Order: sequence, then structure tokens, then C-alpha cells
Amino acid sequence: MDCIFCKIVAGEIPSTKIYETENVYAFADIEPQAPFHAIIIPKKHIKCADEITAENSGIIAEIFEAIAAISKQENLKDGYRIVNNCGRDGGQTVGHLHFHMLAGRSLEWPPG
Ligand code: AMP
Ligand code: ZN
Repeated sequence: MDCIFCKIVAGEIPSTKIYETENVYAFADIEPQAPFHAIIIPKKHIKCADEITAENSGIIAEIFEAIAAISKQENLKDGYRIVNNCGRDGGQTVGHLHFHMLAGRSLEWPPG
């Protein structure tokens, strides 16, 4: 499968690791939109939020446990934003489910 995030998990494309568990990998976004910008993904390919089912939804809990651990690891005490883009209108450009974690500056709300 031609998926850049699967290739990152496989080590075929380099990444800057931020955090890792058995099923979750977090790495630095190559085009950071904030002083801290991590991408958190399931190691197993899931296309987007639409593909979450009763069978695979446990990974979402694992991802959010990873996010809480990253917050502590990186000392993000002033807060952060979690973003998930799904599909064309959601602005998803990589078809492997991922969550952005943005911190280090005040973020506008609502987003553009
Ligand atoms: P999205 O637009 O929500 O699909 O987000 C995809 C994100 O992946 C963007 O913020 C990109 O900058 C990031 N990205 C794409 N390729 C890489 C890469 N090789 N390493 C790190 N981040 C990447
Ligand atoms: Zn993938």
C-alpha cells in the first residue's frame, strides 16, 4: 500500500519520534503549524474516522492515552489542540488516520 504514514511506521521514511507504544506512534510534523506539532497515528492502517468500528475503536483510547502522556512528557501545561481532519472537506491530505497535537502558541477559534 502506498501510504506515507505506513512507511514511517515501517521506518522506510524517516521521522522524528516523539512517543511510541505497541500500537501507537507519534512524530514531529514536517511542516509545523505551531512551536509544538505532533502527529499521532495508529501503527495499523485505518483510512480516516469513518472507518472506526466497534472492533477497532480501542485504538482511539490508546491514541488519547498517548496524547495525555505526550502532554506530560513535553510539559504542555498551557494547553494544546487536538485536530483530526477527515476526507476532502475536512482537509485530510494523508489517508491514514491521524491526530494533530498543536501547542506553544495561542490558537484561533473557530478555525478557518
Ligand atoms: P492532514 O492535512 O490532516 O492530512 O495532515 C497531514 C499532515 O502530515 C500535514 O500536517 C503534513 O505536514 C504532515 N506530513 C506529511 N508528510 C510528512 C512526513 N513525511 N513527516 C512528517 N509529517 C508529514
Ligand atoms: Zn497507512
